[in-house]
Amino acid sequence: MAETPAEILNRVFGYDAFRGAQAAIIDQVLSGGDALVLMPTGGGKSLCYQIPALLRPGVGVVVSPLIALMQDQVDALRQLGVRAAFLNSSLAPREAQAIEQALLAGDLDLVYVAPERLLSERFLGVLERLPIALFAIDEAHCVSQWGHDFRPEYMQLHQLHERWPKVPRIALTATADAPTRAEILTRLGLEQAAQFVSSFDRPNIRYRIVEKVSPRQQLLAFLRHEHAGDAGIVYCLSRRQVEAIADFLSAQGLTALPYHAGLSAETRRTHQTRFLREDGVIIVATIAFGMGIDKPDVRFVAHLDLPKSLEAYYQETGRAGRDGLAANAWMAYGLGDLVMLRRMIEDSGADERFKRVERQRLDSMLGYCETTACRRQVLLGYFGEPLPQPCGNCDTCLEPVATWDGLVAAQKALSCIYRTGQRFGTSYLVDVLLGKHNERIRRFGHDQISTHGIGTELSAEQWKSVFRQLVAMGLIAVDLAGHGALRLTEHSRPVLRGERGIQFRQDPDRKRSSGAERRA
Ligand code: ADP
Ligand code: ZN
Repeated sequence: MAETPAEILNRVFGYDAFRGAQAAIIDQVLSGGDALVLMPTGGGKSLCYQIPALLRPGVGVVVSPLIALMQDQVDALRQLGVRAAFLNSSLAPREAQAIEQALLAGDLDLVYVAPERLLSERFLGVLERLPIALFAIDEAHCVSQWGHDFRPEYMQLHQLHERWPKVPRIALTATADAPTRAEILTRLGLEQAAQFVSSFDRPNIRYRIVEKVSPRQQLLAFLRHEHAGDAGIVYCLSRRQVEAIADFLSAQGLTALPYHAGLSAETRRTHQTRFLREDGVIIVATIAFGMGIDKPDVRFVAHLDLPKSLEAYYQETGRAGRDGLAANAWMAYGLGDLVMLRRMIEDSGADERFKRVERQRLDSMLGYCETTACRRQVLLGYFGEPLPQPCGNCDTCLEPVATWDGLVAAQKALSCIYRTGQRFGTSYLVDVLLGKHNERIRRFGHDQISTHGIGTELSAEQWKSVFRQLVAMGLIAVDLAGHGALRLTEHSRPVLRGERGIQFRQDPDRKRSSGAERRA
């Protein structure tokens, strides 16, 4: 008598009930149909293919790009008594051969393989000789050329369907914006697949963004006030920054370990293991860290640099609070980030179409940073999941953002750019607006122009915020060839003519910018 999925869930995995769409997904695959599963990290994607693999005849073949994760998953499965193995470049040829033998002997329920290994003629030849329960394509967004996890080999995975048209395929990912989803469907030939889209809301994560003023001190205040002794991740853009921040935090007596692709494999492994096993370890990392890290009690994710898209931000912040308890997603953001990311896009050498998509992604990220509405509504809206009510658990909900009528300030800022010849960056322009008399300003004769000193009603910090928001609104362009000089855009003119209004968000004052007082 064959077991039911619920019985397997209970007997093998020790759980009482399926979560969310798990039962429906398992039914779909069991009946031989294809499925696309979009579920946030921690949602329980693995069971969706593990249980059908145990119930259908033959071996379940799981494609995964994450060598470290494969090993963990296989170890965990073996402890549950599931006959599982993995095949990737970390194995010696003899070990790999033993696994092929086990496959041929019908001794495995699940095999995890790296895509390049799966697609090798040799391995495809082995598979030809076996009954196959299903193909699971994990981290399916790796097929998207526009995502930061792109793996060219994923493009070849549509071959599986051509060779084995009767074997069900299940593609899984936690990245689900509309363009990525569409790309997964077409590139993997899954147009006919049933789609299972779970809610992406992570209600226990509190989203907060502060204006970047003195990032190290702001980070330190956030950690000291809100996360003493907690485990968490601090993301930075560059390796150098990762090292510097890890050193800084260590010097402050915190256990902070760097993690980036420039460290030796051994160092990375040691740091990752300490993060997983010890209490209260902070990992300071580039995006090289995190995919597939299953640590439930990460209490915070802090960003010291702006991620380049909301997908990346969502993935990275999603590593916090997988245990369902309160967690913080905290970010410090400033004009410098935006300039740097724009520059990275322009200098990427990619074709124009790619750059356009990247620019749009960055703009959505900026829109999220500058919003005066509920952040969760913006974030989920971006993933096609409108949230009807403000969430009550983000900074803009907890402390509604004051806005101010910024038309006059915007006009002063824009005309200062114009009168100085569209050749200068923010700090210089702010000095001119404030009427400073330094050597540079005199040399260019900018103490003689009409915008010199017309902005004394605002502080330098406030002016910086004005420029940053104008850039985010597309009313000012950053000239990357000109070392970050600000230029007017086609949208500047209606503002100068007073034909449209401008509302700026009031940045909270600096003393409070760690957000420490806002803890509920
Ligand atoms: P994902 O791959 O979507 O990030 P996982 O498959 O790793 O998520 O599952 C996350 C955690 O939730 C794991 O510890 C898993 O054992 C647990 N889990 C999954 N499904 C259930 C369930 N139905 N009941 C209880 N725990 C579950
Ligand atoms: Zn909110």
